[in-house]
Parts: sequence; C-alpha cells; structure tokens
Amino acid sequence: MPGRGLALALLAAASWIGEPAGRQNAARQDAPPPVEAGAAADADAAAEAGAAGATGADRSEADSQEPAPPDAAPQDAAPQDAVEGDEAPGDTAAADDAAAEGADAEDAPPEPPPEVLEIGDGLYVLPYCGNATLRVTAHGVVLVGDELAGYGAEIARLAATVTDHRIAYEIHTHRHGAEDDDAAAPGARRLGPALGDASVRAPAEPPDIVFTSGLSLFLGEAEIRLRHVGGAHSAADAVVAFPDRGAVHAGHLVTDGPPTIDYAGGGSAGGWIQALDALLALEFDTLIPGAGPVLEKSGAQAFRDRLVTLRTRIEQLVRRGVAKEEAARRLETTDLGWPLDPDGDFVRETLPGLYDEVAGGP
Ligand SMILES: [Zn+2]
Repeated sequence: MPGRGLALALLAAASWIGEPAGRQNAARQDAPPPVEAGAAADADAAAEAGAAGATGADRSEADSQEPAPPDAAPQDAAPQDAVEGDEAPGDTAAADDAAAEGADAEDAPPEPPPEVLEIGDGLYVLPYCGNATLRVTAHGVVLVGDELAGYGAEIARLAATVTDHRIAYEIHTHRHGAEDDDAAAPGARRLGPALGDASVRAPAEPPDIVFTSGLSLFLGEAEIRLRHVGGAHSAADAVVAFPDRGAVHAGHLVTDGPPTIDYAGGGSAGGWIQALDALLALEFDTLIPGAGPVLEKSGAQAFRDRLVTLRTRIEQLVRRGVAKEEAARRLETTDLGWPLDPDGDFVRETLPGLYDEVAGGP
C-alpha cells in the first residue's frame, strides 16, 4: 500500500481535475515528485513524434538522479532450493508428527524463492500473482504490471534482488474503471491508459499520468513505449514495449488462462482481438504475458487465434438457438487449452457477456 501522502495527493489531484470520468486524457503532473515525471503531456503527440517532449524532460531529470549501480545480478533462484523446498528428507519425521497433530504438515516446508527471470540486460520478469516486468537502468527503475496493489512488499522483495534503486515509475497495463490500483511501489509515479468516453464510473485513485494513444518514457538511452490499445480485457488496456530489448509486456491481453472480459467496464472480445492486432503490429521477439510463461511473439498470434475460435463457436451456438444459460454446457474449449470451470470467472462473468456481444445485445 502506498503512503498516505500519495493517496492524499491523488485525491487532491482528482478534485483538481474536477471533470467527469473518462476525460482525463491529458497527462497530469500532480503529486509532488518523488521523481519528477516530465513525461509527455500530450500522449498522442508524444506517440507520433517519438515522444520528443518526454525525451528531453526525462533525460534531464534522469541525469539529475544519482546513478544507480545497475549491476543487477539476476537472481537465479537456485533450482536446488526449489527442490529442497518440497521433500527435504529430514522433514519427514516432523511432517508425520504434524500430520498426527492435525495435518498442517503440507504447509510446513518453506516456500522456494520465486524465480526472477532476466530476459534481457536490465529487464526482469517478477512473479507475484502474475508477471510484473522490471526495467532497471542507471537512470531509474520502471515497474510494469497488473493489479499490483496488495503485492507491494512482495514486489519490493523481488526487485531488491536485482537492484537497490527504488522504483520511479509504475505502469498499470489496464484499468477496470471504477477503481484503480494503489501504487505497489511507494512514491512511484503511476501511469495507465486513459479511460474512454464510454466509461461512466468515476475512478478512484486514478493514475498520475494517463495517455490516450501512446507515451514514451526515456531513462537515459532506454525507451519504454506505452501503447493504448482500447478496451479489451478491461475498460482501457495498454501494452508496454521495451524496444531496445525486443520485448513487450502484454498485460492481460495474453495470459495462460481463458480470457476474462470486464463487460461492465467496457471490455469486449471484439476490442480484445483488435488490441491483439495492435500488439502484433509491433516489432518484438519476446512476449511477457500477464500471467504464465514468457513466450515468443507467436504466442500472441496463437492467443488471438484461440480467441477468434472461441468467439466463432459462441456465434454458432447463438445461431443454433442455444440459450445463454446453456452455452457453457455446449461450448467446447478444452482443445483451446481453456477447460471450463463451471464456477470460474469465465463461465460466470465472461461467457454471458460474450454471448450477448455476439448475439448483438443482451
Ligand atoms: Zn484485469
């Protein structure tokens, strides 16, 4: 959780903006700087013009920061530790005892240290409940993730294994509309995609800086390129590219589970497919999904193909007159790698919306 100061500053910012939800298109520079953002104010212009404004501002700012020792010894969580965590021979007797006492033995072995994955020089994937990405440069550290609130301590612990510099920017890849995440990293400037006009709910804790089309952050020579890809999984989704490392963090546009769509917030399967097209139009080799193993670019195409197949199958059900309530029982998804859990989010929340979307309305 962030410091109260930041929360207050954000509240102040919200009242300063004083406009209906969904029209905070201009980037804002409110809360007094832990780090002066200097990010391009007009995101569209920044995107089109290669973010010249952001470049200058951030570079000069970056230069004024103390250089961080970027020697980020990748924390390769030693595999042998992981093995040890499970069935250390010495634990057996203790486990038996505990089992006799009340079966808490399974919880006893210490967790193996999560593996921080270095996928490029200064570019790390941090596992928390999904994948966060950490870009470490001599001029600052940027965190990218989804629904980070509540994981601040874990993120800090993982980040500390690769840098002793604090996180200056925190990029949230999507927004569910009514409520935005607190910062996971205290004092970090939060960035996120602007909500569209369709969004009617006033967001709480909006990001410090929002962008409608794109935005580039420059930390020294390192560019971090944010691209708004519209409402897809959520009300507003973004992808974050690291062009000098050939990698993209895809947010929840690609995960290792079935698609979950925030229909109430403005997400849709159609928007998701378009967002994946925008992602595929970028040049990159390495895809960091919101959850699951790191992929190659083809993983985004594969996810898109499966999503299109899923939508087509639902269209067929609609055409055959299968009722919405029956759709889960009639829908084949196992071959897509998305076996249906009747109590899961997909069946309870996404499928009814998806049915309505392809049927042309509720
Ligand atoms: Zn989400």
